[in-house]
Amino acid sequence: VDVCLRATHRRLEIAVALTTDLTREAARIHRLAATSAVALGRLLAGTALLAITGKHEGSTSVQILSKSRIGQIYADCTDDGDARGMARNPDLAFPVGEAERASGRRSLHLAVHPGRISVVRRVASGEYAQSSTQLVTGEIDEDIESYVVHSDQIPTVVACDVVLGEEDAVVAAGGVLVRTMPDGDRDELGRVADRLRGGALARALEASPSAERLLELAAPGAEVVDAPSPLRYRCRCSRERVLASLRMFPVEDLASMVGDAKPVEVNCDLCGRKYPVQPEDLLRAFEDLIKAEG
Ligand SMILES: [Zn+2]
Repeated sequence: VDVCLRATHRRLEIAVALTTDLTREAARIHRLAATSAVALGRLLAGTALLAITGKHEGSTSVQILSKSRIGQIYADCTDDGDARGMARNPDLAFPVGEAERASGRRSLHLAVHPGRISVVRRVASGEYAQSSTQLVTGEIDEDIESYVVHSDQIPTVVACDVVLGEEDAVVAAGGVLVRTMPDGDRDELGRVADRLRGGALARALEASPSAERLLELAAPGAEVVDAPSPLRYRCRCSRERVLASLRMFPVEDLASMVGDAKPVEVNCDLCGRKYPVQPEDLLRAFEDLIKAEG
């Protein structure tokens, strides 16, 4: 079962997420090949960690727009642990190099770098804050870390990974986010980074996929501060949102669907659910689009 644990250690704030089941669900829905699965899995874990450690109520969305093969990947998560995501190119499967095999950690650099990462933090009142930075390595967890360090100005370490097994099935996935409190021990933060980097997190996930084990790896002796909270893959799409999304279709596509005057199915990009759309709904969306475009 996927969970998030929060802990403290030497005035460091620690969050650990086990995300195996939700990464498997993402891989199943989007039929992800190996590299795409590792990329979206790292993004899902990192996004869940940001959502759960944010001092706000609402959801956190992270989008990577890459100039490399992966194209676009997206994940969002609510503050109570409903996560979902998608990869524009689900079929990437790069060969695994010698160094990756030895460390247990796949490299995403060639698939993802260069590009930008942007984060939207929505708050319950409906307001939101958005900012973006350049990707530093394309490894995704390192890019999320760099984003947080720049945007929040708080020394932070983020490590996320996905371990694949036979036929590239997801064996385990998870992540750790650690940041200093005011007067936190920055040397200890550096040691936390050393314990997680170089594939150490992936090897720990493979050996013993539990949130407690990840916490023990990051900060031995850390004190858990509240009960584990659940994480899950859950989409928040609805018929209304799908109908609203029709207005984003290219006008000629919508015109041709209206011309056919037949019911169509529109899929949610994030969970694959199919929504039947009737000709009158298509016509209404088309009219709205024409009016909006003047
Ligand atoms: Zn959906």
